[in-house]
Amino acid sequence: MSIQDYRAFHRRSIEDKEGFWAEQARMIYWHKDFERVLDFSRPPFAKWFLGGETNLCHNAVDRHLEDRAEQNALVYVSTETGEQKSYTYRELYGEVNTFAASLKELGVGRGDRVVIYMPMMVEAIFAMLACVRLGAIHSVVFGGFAAENLAKRIDDAKPKVMVTANAGVRGGRVIPYRPLVDEAMEATGHPPETVVICRREVDAEMPQAAGRGMDYADLRRKHEGEEVPVEWVESSEPSYILYTSGTTGTPKGVQRDTGGHAVALTSSMKHVFASNPGETMFTASDIGWVVGHSYIVYAPLMYGMASIVYEGLPIRPDPGIWWRIVQDHGVNIMFTSPTAIRALRRQDPEYMTKYDTSTLRNLFLAGEPLDEPTSRWAAESLGTSVRDNYWQTETGWPILSSMLPGLEDEPVVAGSAGYPVYGYDVRLMHEVTGEEVPAGERGIVAIKAPLPPGCMSTIWGDDERFVQTYFSDFPDPEMYSTFDWGVKDERDGRYYIMGRSDDVINVSGHRLGTREIEEAISDHPEVAEAAAVGVKDEYKGQVVLAYVVPKDGGKVETDAGRAELEQSVKDIVDRKVGAIARPASVYFVEALPKTRSGKLLRRSIQALAESRDPGDLSTLEDPGTLDSVRATGPVRK
Ligand code: AMP
Repeated sequence: MSIQDYRAFHRRSIEDKEGFWAEQARMIYWHKDFERVLDFSRPPFAKWFLGGETNLCHNAVDRHLEDRAEQNALVYVSTETGEQKSYTYRELYGEVNTFAASLKELGVGRGDRVVIYMPMMVEAIFAMLACVRLGAIHSVVFGGFAAENLAKRIDDAKPKVMVTANAGVRGGRVIPYRPLVDEAMEATGHPPETVVICRREVDAEMPQAAGRGMDYADLRRKHEGEEVPVEWVESSEPSYILYTSGTTGTPKGVQRDTGGHAVALTSSMKHVFASNPGETMFTASDIGWVVGHSYIVYAPLMYGMASIVYEGLPIRPDPGIWWRIVQDHGVNIMFTSPTAIRALRRQDPEYMTKYDTSTLRNLFLAGEPLDEPTSRWAAESLGTSVRDNYWQTETGWPILSSMLPGLEDEPVVAGSAGYPVYGYDVRLMHEVTGEEVPAGERGIVAIKAPLPPGCMSTIWGDDERFVQTYFSDFPDPEMYSTFDWGVKDERDGRYYIMGRSDDVINVSGHRLGTREIEEAISDHPEVAEAAAVGVKDEYKGQVVLAYVVPKDGGKVETDAGRAELEQSVKDIVDRKVGAIARPASVYFVEALPKTRSGKLLRRSIQALAESRDPGDLSTLEDPGTLDSVRATGPVRK
């Protein structure tokens, strides 16, 4: 295929959606064939493969027993606990059935929710697959989130059961889950009936979970060897919920369907990730994020690959660890974030060439803008192609990619996220008029509905919010907003992504909501008001800066008072949101810049902190408030 052929392939995916996706749908197993490919009778909601019955667990596990039962399905490597264990598809089948039998005993069935709050333990994956086997809906909550954040997600999903662990381990430090789980159980209005606790061999007490805890070891012993029949579900039934942050304090539950999800992910393994069944994929992410859901768990397994499940940092025990894994397991494709590569770039470059990584064909990077120097450095030091791809929790798989059929031999253009992936009708819209902008002009990246298979079907329990959030920015009510800035190259049609157009902060490829951080800080008894903004950072993409108005201005007049309040503001963010959201710096100001209608001007604060022009200030209520921001630490005039 050439790039011209790909353009035709893409065009067909838009102009003949039904024909195109009916063909892709043959890549998965259908217990009952679908009657219609697409139902778009209630825009912007799209339903794919109507009437079809399938099951994600069957596609990811059972289906492979025939051809690849003895092939590795999961290879677990933890440099935190030293554990290393492989599971063939047959062994995975056994573990998933045991977990499913355990959940079934606890009353979990079709449509029930199960919250999975876990570190990178292989049991987390068994639990996910067990849920979908039963037709239950999992909601994985990132294991680094704080108790309050967990409680908010429990409140929204109202799970029957929660699966958790006794501890996470990060950088060699044990993080006991007991206080987190117990506090969340206190804080939630909908405590799950049972909390299944997976115990790992570290020094940490088991959570009490308000007396509802159960040791998974006991359940496992009881149900080992049992088989649980697959629950066939209709294609549009939800398979999972994954919460993501936006500009409000309440996270949105991205709801994924079953059939569309299975088809899109399986097809992406072939066309976007250019891989083959039987090969090995190493996605260095966390199951708490969408990349982990899609490319550690579902896509590689549904496609019959071996997936490396890694717990640990990229630089521990030394910065060669990932490449040693590539060598030892013959990894063919790898996927991680630009931040991880930037972290490796700060280390001794010898580690990049110390191991034989010749099996590796492509290194995929996503989650945040990929800068040219990082892209070039990785490609040169590994001797492999580096492929940027751009997507979101909402879409579940790439919107733009620099690896597509026909692009294999095209030179990679560092800095560009590539071309629209088949199925995505990508447009660029003017921020103010909401009309399409021509190539070469900056606009907001939008997708003309129906969104392709695999994308979110709605916000869990809130159709109205789904429409309001994603489909109300442009005059066309069928135009989905990504909230990202982008530009299309006039000459070759490649896209460049230039960051968020809203206030969402992206730290090391992780999305953080400004309001969530601000609400946490405002709960501090000595804080009157707070603003959180994301500011450019050489290594993490962005870092969080907090601008805080103290109740007692006198307190921050002394160095000691300032230091104490700064520390306790950071601590409260740790406690309420999680350590990843901790502000890099806290600045105390007399007042925050707001418009006359009281809207916080975060973008002006951000611009000042990045030494840029604060923009149009005509709506500013009190210009003096900007001087207060200007007078703080990082701001260079
Ligand atoms: P999340 O839903 O947490 O994966 O975050 C999605 C957001 O990350 C997008 O809306 C973008 O702002 C950013 N993002 C993801 N991938 C890329 C990429 N390849 N280039 C630039 N930004 C990206």
